[in-house]
Amino acid sequence: MTDHRIRRPLLRRIVVAGGGTAGWMAAAAIARTMGRTVEVTLVESEAIGTVGVGESTIPPLVTYNRLLGIDEAEFMRATQATFKLGIRFDGWKTPDSSYFHSFGTTGKDHWSAGFQHFWLHARAEGDTRPYDDYCLELRAAEAGKFAHLPGDRINYAYQLDSSLYAAFLRRMAEGDGVRRVEGKIAAVELDGESGDVAALTLESGARIAGDLFLDCTGFRALLIEGALHAGYDDWTHWLPCDSAIAVQTANVGPPVPFTRATAHDAGWQWRIPLQHRTGNGIVWCSRYLSREAALARLMGDVVGDVLTQPNHLSFKAGARRRQWHRNVVAIGLAGGFMEPLESTSIHLIQRAVIRLIRMMPLRDISPRDVAEFNDQQMQDMEQIRDFLVLHYHVTYRRDSPFWRQCAAMDVPDTLRQKIELFSETGRVFRRNEELFAENSWVQVMMGQGIVPRAWHPVAAKLREAELERFLSGLRDDVASTVAGLPAHGDYVAHYCGAA
Ligand code: FAD
Repeated sequence: MTDHRIRRPLLRRIVVAGGGTAGWMAAAAIARTMGRTVEVTLVESEAIGTVGVGESTIPPLVTYNRLLGIDEAEFMRATQATFKLGIRFDGWKTPDSSYFHSFGTTGKDHWSAGFQHFWLHARAEGDTRPYDDYCLELRAAEAGKFAHLPGDRINYAYQLDSSLYAAFLRRMAEGDGVRRVEGKIAAVELDGESGDVAALTLESGARIAGDLFLDCTGFRALLIEGALHAGYDDWTHWLPCDSAIAVQTANVGPPVPFTRATAHDAGWQWRIPLQHRTGNGIVWCSRYLSREAALARLMGDVVGDVLTQPNHLSFKAGARRRQWHRNVVAIGLAGGFMEPLESTSIHLIQRAVIRLIRMMPLRDISPRDVAEFNDQQMQDMEQIRDFLVLHYHVTYRRDSPFWRQCAAMDVPDTLRQKIELFSETGRVFRRNEELFAENSWVQVMMGQGIVPRAWHPVAAKLREAELERFLSGLRDDVASTVAGLPAHGDYVAHYCGAA
């Protein structure tokens, strides 16, 4: 029989170091889920501030907010959010090409073969209708339209001000009992015996002790790297962009429900419309473009009055080798960063927070939990990495040293298999619950220029007239649904104002 008197104490004190999007997303979710079984203290420094970027998100954030019981209209008002249906990629396949990576699905799959097989077969038979005609989210995005549809038929995410999102979550978390401490962390104190982090010491002299620490200190990674030296896997040979500048401008016209990612000769630029302003930025590889030239290019491209000073950022694409090490879990930029091309950073925060809550220790931290967490988190990051590398590697662009380097690079084997499988057979498989599903891979692979050489024979089973009926039914449904949607800007104004 267990002797309850010698049990170790419960894990109670959770300390969150850092109050950016990562810190407040973690603190709010833990406090709401765990209630008073834990004490959450968050330390942040206004003098240091946050990274100050992060506007484009992906659909799982809708679920995250629902999990936390957040009212959507209230959240959208508080964060000045718009709806997002996808990303338009201009200039990626060739300098004058354009394609959409939208949310949702395209057409209708058969259990044996994805919709692309039917489309490819029809195309070989002379049908010239574009693949895009079969995706509701894509055509709605292009038309600048949006509405919630019954049965969550339209799949969407948000374009938001992440500093306002952090502030919104802060109010919620403090309401749920999270204690916020203002101050600069001066030292991380290690336990002499275990090597775990014992406490944070602030410049003021205050000491904050804890059982579990979340490192949400951004690129500084004060605990996980500064104190525990968890190591970093450098992926810059696959994702060479290492610099960015962000600037905000006044809106010109109503906001569109999509993010724009425009390639240039040494990287790309973003444009993200929110309710109250537009976020703009340039991302580039410093080997091929100077900071001054990048700034000039960005400022030459923005439309609308400039509202902020340019925010300069440098980063190294990669992942913290151990995201959970001893009693420290890295969340957000402290855990790694892979540039904002597919808006995956806030999502990785969400994944880490949910994963941690699922593995929350009762008393001691189990090395099994730590190993499981690290495996799962790294798998997420590697799958996202492969998807990002695809955009750079599969291209006809050879017009600059940057693009020639990207085309020539050796890609991870996992990605090589996906590209070659799709090129040869038209097939793509979503492995291990990876974030980007078949529709995303197909859209981006075809958008970047892959034309599969074959398709599933089941597509040829339909007689010509049957195939045409099948395809025209899908197309008409998309077209008539889009025709019935309101303009996105009007819908946002009504939704946020009326609720
Ligand atoms: P930060 O915002 O840097 O927060 C760190 C916190 O730690 C701050 O509160 C700071 O005060 C505190 N801190 C640090 N040191 C100390 C100390 N010594 N004492 C006390 N406190 C300290 N993500 C997306 O999902 N979509 C996007 O479109 C997107 N675009 C991006 C564009 C760029 C160019 C970059 C660089 C990132 C982008 N991201 C995007 C990523 C996104 O910005 C981050 O994932 C998100 O903001 C989370 O940041 P964070 O909380 O980890 O770090």
